[in-house]
Amino acid sequence: MAHTRANGGLLRGLLPLLVALMAPPVVGYELRRDSTGEPVRWDARVRFVVDPAFDVQLDAADALSALQDALATYRDAGVGLQLEVVQGEHGGVGYDLRRDAPNQNTIVALDPWEYDASAIAVTVLTVDIRTHRILDADIALNAQHRSFRVLPPEGAPSNSPWDDVQNTLTHELGHAIGLAHNPAVPGSVMFPTALRGETAKRAFSADDHAGLEALYGGSAELEGGGGTTAGGCSTGGGSGGLFAVVVMLLMTALALRRRREAALLVVLAGPGALASTPEREVPDVAQASLVATGRVVRVQTLVSTGASGLLRTEVELEVERCYRGSCPTRLVVVRPGGRLGHVEQWVEGHELPRPGESLGVVQEEGSAATRMYSLERVRDLVAFARGLERLTSPPAPRVPAPPSAPTPARRR
Ligand SMILES: [Zn+2]
Repeated sequence: MAHTRANGGLLRGLLPLLVALMAPPVVGYELRRDSTGEPVRWDARVRFVVDPAFDVQLDAADALSALQDALATYRDAGVGLQLEVVQGEHGGVGYDLRRDAPNQNTIVALDPWEYDASAIAVTVLTVDIRTHRILDADIALNAQHRSFRVLPPEGAPSNSPWDDVQNTLTHELGHAIGLAHNPAVPGSVMFPTALRGETAKRAFSADDHAGLEALYGGSAELEGGGGTTAGGCSTGGGSGGLFAVVVMLLMTALALRRRREAALLVVLAGPGALASTPEREVPDVAQASLVATGRVVRVQTLVSTGASGLLRTEVELEVERCYRGSCPTRLVVVRPGGRLGHVEQWVEGHELPRPGESLGVVQEEGSAATRMYSLERVRDLVAFARGLERLTSPPAPRVPAPPSAPTPARRR
């Protein structure tokens, strides 16, 4: 049976967000930092292995040429890092932790896709937090849910079905060498979202150049914000509107004292109000077997990495509010990435929450994926709230999925 707990979760999530938003916006690049706070980077040389049939696997003629063009962009930028790609067989995405195990940096087209369906691509980065050196970087393109093409230089209309190969790879290569998302500069390669048909991210902005210089140029000072931003390398709207978001959230927070949380979420998610905010894909809550908010009480990487070479981390939530489905009081979700000993691994766009963080969780019927939305990050909060808006009727008790269902979450 559905149950309801205290309504304070979203409010607790909103307030730090407001504080963060009221601070002056960070303009500039962001570096991927490990859990010690240090930026991560390669030593001097990175070699990627790509399957000779990459074009076929991606169903995009000339995709290999587009990959070379993306690499050339980095070479032309004078990056003090040797980037190269060779064709050959490879072991796929992940990092084998066993001593002396062969590990390659790979660029692959994946179908089936095991990450967030809305992501165009992901980069899996593995680092040694003692040296802050990148050990392994793998780029995977979402060949199941996206359609790739090598578009003409001017691109294609945003209502076209195509994602440009070079546009995508230039961005992902940035992740692969240590750049994080730059949500402050919409024209940058490392901006978190891309429109279909877009080719603007084939070329670096001044901010991208500054980030590369900071990592590999040797002269620029490291600056530009700590940590990373939320979200994948995904389709989204435009940018800006931060001021509107601040005002909206402030009003919402004030109103929260008097109104019901659900009604406020509808206001927050009102059509048009936040239309210019970069967003995550809105969850289809009508198809969800479970929609809830909760607080993270445990984040623990599993010792066994399995055959994939991907670290997996259990995230345990104390459910605070159940919007749909039969919510347990504690919910455990397994996420890619994590930390084992001195090795840390991230799947870009699948950030692990920290203990105490407030999350929205959506489990879709018949899908192995559980989506997490940080209620302390604008893009996540807005997407989750818009999803909730679609819940027009009160949550009805539903039969929980049987234990054998292919879902990484389980009840406790
Ligand atoms: Zn990205």
